[in-house]
Amino acid sequence: MSNCIFCRIIAGEIPCSKVYEDDLFLAFDDINPVAPVHVVVVPKKHIPTLMDVADDGLMQGLTDALRATARIKGIDNRGFKMVINCNKEGGQVIYHLHAHLIGGGTIDKNKI
Ligand code: AMP
Ligand code: ZN
Repeated sequence: MSNCIFCRIIAGEIPCSKVYEDDLFLAFDDINPVAPVHVVVVPKKHIPTLMDVADDGLMQGLTDALRATARIKGIDNRGFKMVINCNKEGGQVIYHLHAHLIGGGTIDKNKI
């Protein structure tokens, strides 16, 4: 979707700080981090929200990509949070499914 910022990042039209990529997922540093490690993990396919996921395999893949990203960032054993905001009252701002990988130290709980 041309008007979706994450689709534009996936297409290479908007730069990002890439952390992990495979055929189906991309992970990049969040532009407004709430902790020392804050990465956004997105499926390359445009799916607006968690409620729109029709394929269980996609969530397995998303979790695998997030765990690979945690290893790259060196927080797999230290610990982290995985957060998915869904729809307006869930705090979702960008309507392209994504999981936040948050860790590496103090987490600002006012933001997530
Ligand atoms: P959410 O509130 O769950 O929709 O989270 C959207 C996240 O995307 C926020 O944490 C933003 O800081 C992040 N974000 C927005 N634009 C960009 C961008 N161009 N590059 C990286 N992260 C972004
Ligand atoms: Zn999109």
